Amino acid sequence: MPKNSDHYYITTPIYYVNAAAHIGHAYTSIAADVMARFQRLCGKQVNFLTGTDEHGQKIARAADAKGVGPQTFVDEISQTFRDLHVALGASITDFIRTTEPRHIIGAQKFWEAAAAAGDIYKKTYEGLYCVGCEQFYIPKDLDAEGRCPIHLKVPELLQEENYFFRLSKYSDALKKHFDENPHFVFPQNRQKEMRQILEDGLEDISISRSVEKLSWGIPVPGDDTQVMYVWFDALTNYVTAIGYGARDDSHDAFTSPWWPADAHVMAKEINRFHALLWPAMLLSAKLALPEQVVAHGWLTVDGQKMSKSLGNVVNPYDVISKYGLDSFRFFLFREMPFGGDGDFSFTKLEARYRADLQNDLGNLLMRTIAMAIKFCDGKVPPTTPGTHEELWHKYSEHMNRWEFQPALEIIWDYVRALNQLIDREKPWTAAKEGRTADVERTLYTILEGLRQIAIAVSPFMPETSQKMLAQLGFDYFDPKFDNLIEWGLLKSGGTLIAESPLFPQLAE
Ligand SMILES: [Zn+2]
Repeated sequence: MPKNSDHYYITTPIYYVNAAAHIGHAYTSIAADVMARFQRLCGKQVNFLTGTDEHGQKIARAADAKGVGPQTFVDEISQTFRDLHVALGASITDFIRTTEPRHIIGAQKFWEAAAAAGDIYKKTYEGLYCVGCEQFYIPKDLDAEGRCPIHLKVPELLQEENYFFRLSKYSDALKKHFDENPHFVFPQNRQKEMRQILEDGLEDISISRSVEKLSWGIPVPGDDTQVMYVWFDALTNYVTAIGYGARDDSHDAFTSPWWPADAHVMAKEINRFHALLWPAMLLSAKLALPEQVVAHGWLTVDGQKMSKSLGNVVNPYDVISKYGLDSFRFFLFREMPFGGDGDFSFTKLEARYRADLQNDLGNLLMRTIAMAIKFCDGKVPPTTPGTHEELWHKYSEHMNRWEFQPALEIIWDYVRALNQLIDREKPWTAAKEGRTADVERTLYTILEGLRQIAIAVSPFMPETSQKMLAQLGFDYFDPKFDNLIEWGLLKSGGTLIAESPLFPQLAE
């Protein structure tokens, strides 16, 4: 079964289980979830994959340090990542662990496919290896003190015989792919950055370690003295999760209604592995390349890089318990343009909470329903014509292009326009003067607008969306993009329900 055009396949990276989840992981997974929910809104069937990367030297060492076996160690941390996705409201449909048999079998099949293509060979290698990054560095990529630029540690000098992947062979094919697909990597600056690396040419990379150095890994097929290097193992999760290697017939026959993936989402530091190494591996294994690699920027906290030593690591659970899940999800994409680096700050979050959520949206819903209860017996007034088709097409274009901030701006312009409509039309004055038709027209326009807003915000704020729809009298409503552009689905005569505010006062 080849790729089905009604299917949308989106992934986060599999998270490395050497430490607990933090706000950076949350940012990636919520971004992917916003897109997953938007695609469902558009009628697609969505496969949303996340999981945990559980092999490597760093994990074996972390388990040792804790005095537990590696499997016990990874079981425990993998569970914390599963729990995090529940807490984030991430609508995942699959969770893969690289220690699962379905992955191990598939990763080994993938290796065999690359070997059959003549792309794997053995050679002695000596190099500077950062355990933190699980990668070799060439001196020019180290900082002035000869340290790994990410971990600020001097890498270890390692010499051993390893298997290599002929990455260099694919430089030209990838150049062509980048040139023919100018939006292969999002955002544009990172597409350019990767294209520049290709201009300089790719070098073959080591894809295995000797079992004495690293026992915690997937055995290389046909050579039990070596285990797979973590990236060659980890990246294949995107196909092993959808059944690659599950059947006995040859890998050449692999097709899936999900493949190629529509989007691999990640933070920029691993863009290179997804935009260059993974496509080369896929070419080698004769599989189609993903539609898009989405590499977002980093979050700083109050203008500073998050770090344990600065004590400014933000725990997503703390943010959720104080401000609510939807406010957190909303803030991440309302405040910072998705793709670039952004700054997280509690002060800015509170300002957005008060202005955009309590004041603009929460208030609009509350006062409109209160007026409808007072002036229209709590019923939806007679339908008034209207349309916002063009607006929602623009919204959809932004969403499809990962332009979450402009999409939210469109929604909020509309929210503010409806608030202004109330201030201008003054339904309480109209009611006092007996102008019933004016009152009904204004209130219907706003209530139906609120129904549309509830749908448009649903990828970002799923709970809020449901609460809004419940107050508008829907006991069940399946948000769809078609419902967004179709005016008048809010039925005249329906019962409105006044509830407590969508966004309560914050505790001091
Ligand atoms: Zn490093």
